[in-house]
Amino acid sequence: MRASVHARLGDIAASIAALEARFGKQLSVALALREQHGAGISHHKPRPPDAVLFAASTEDVREAVRICARHDTPIIPYGTGTSMEGHLAALHGGVCIDLSRMTKIIAVHAEDMDAVVEPGVTREALNSFIRDTGLFFSIDPGANASIGGMTATRASGTNAVRYGTMRENVMALKVVTADGELIAIGNRAKKSSMGYDLTRLFVGSEGTLGLITEITVKLHPQPQCIASAVCAFETMKGAVDTVIQTIQLGAPPARMELLDEFSISAVNKHSKMNLKVAPTLFIEFHGSDSAVGEHARSVQEIAAENGGGDFIWSLLPEERARLWKARHESGWAAREMRPGCMNWTTDACVPISQLAENILAARADLDSGAIPGRIIGHVGDGNFHVTYLVMPDLPHELAEAERLANRVVERAIACEGTASGEHGVGYGKIPHMRREHGAGIELMRAIKQALDPRNIMNPGKILPD
Ligand SMILES: Cc1cc2nc3c(=O)[nH]c(=O)nc-3n(C[C@H](O)[C@H](O)[C@H](O)COP(=O)(O)OP(=O)(O)OC[C@H]3O[C@@H](n4cnc5c(N)ncnc54)[C@H](O)[C@@H]3O)c2cc1C
Repeated sequence: MRASVHARLGDIAASIAALEARFGKQLSVALALREQHGAGISHHKPRPPDAVLFAASTEDVREAVRICARHDTPIIPYGTGTSMEGHLAALHGGVCIDLSRMTKIIAVHAEDMDAVVEPGVTREALNSFIRDTGLFFSIDPGANASIGGMTATRASGTNAVRYGTMRENVMALKVVTADGELIAIGNRAKKSSMGYDLTRLFVGSEGTLGLITEITVKLHPQPQCIASAVCAFETMKGAVDTVIQTIQLGAPPARMELLDEFSISAVNKHSKMNLKVAPTLFIEFHGSDSAVGEHARSVQEIAAENGGGDFIWSLLPEERARLWKARHESGWAAREMRPGCMNWTTDACVPISQLAENILAARADLDSGAIPGRIIGHVGDGNFHVTYLVMPDLPHELAEAERLANRVVERAIACEGTASGEHGVGYGKIPHMRREHGAGIELMRAIKQALDPRNIMNPGKILPD
């Protein structure tokens, strides 16, 4: 586990005593709870915080931050704990501030197509709440994550190819800074050129610059027609070329997801489906009836030229829901294929023209390597995940996964892509930061120093020592 040399261990015990006096039962030092809060969903080593505080309001967050700041105590914000790069590990101990009880939907401005929420509101809760407005919130990581956590990791998911990521969908924030002040940044206007874009700075900051206590997000009209289809291909190259040519047409479908043979076998078993075991695209079209029909026809033609079979359509809402649930659960499905294993997942994202080369090289590595794995991806964005199914107690398997994952990242950066399209850095991807950003790291460090001079906000994450 890496440790930041910058973190100064303060008097954590004094912070806990003061927090206990102020918050009573909202604070817990129970080991099981601390362990749960120091782990995300990943192969990275967890580390429990010294205490967990359940904040109920922005005022709670401000007071807790002031107490921790007084004693130089590290603070680790927590949403729903589904992040994948060791984001939540309390590398220097400290207090985890759990925001999952801040679940108010403060406003829905249907006429302006936006909503203002507290950070603990999950994406599914927001979508249930606004169902009758004819609008929806588009970002859908596979987990039912909190909107605070999704903002903090700059998350995306299957819909990003058409509706963008959290970067494009967050309009304004309220943030408690490292000294306990509350700042409001951004606004609800569709565009603004008033100064530095602080909203974008906090989106993806992983709790290292402040705690987000309110988020204004964009909503989108529910499309008149939605049609999902599955198309199996003779080769992986055919499937990826179909994606590239479709994107190059300039009108992407709403979703375009690749699953390799291994993933399809796993999904068939886990979700009791009967899909042909072959490289497969899951595609979804949104729009008017006529636009969807026309769009689908042109993608079908491209697929046929690349060795794709017939489209198998899911038109009814419940059929579509089943299909996308299976896609979202494919990570758990893969894990079940090797009992006792855990997922080691990469997250490279490359310019679309480089996608085939990168995916095929990752597949070749997997085929020649010693551990099983699968490839799945939000390929419409150029983002793909290679998941190595490793036995946690076999060091040679962990070493092999690390070697193969490094090769995925090296190839992505060599073609001007990124090591992480959506999962973020945590501490797991710190080794790639310098390679990807070069001297840009020093600018990031200067920002961190300006906003969090005592380095108490989730220390040891994002920036290399
Ligand atoms: C099965 C599965 C599928 C997934 N699929 C996707 C996917 O398709 N796309 C994708 O992008 N991700 C995916 N993820 C990863 C994960 O869901 C996202 O990273 C998500 O955004 C994390 O949200 P969370 O609420 O769980 O945050 P947490 O894990 O609780 O926290 C994540 C980070 O944000 C910080 N943080 C949390 N809340 C706040 C706040 N209010 N203020 C400041 N900092 C905060 C934390 O300190 C931490 O650094 C998947 C995860 C799983 C388990």
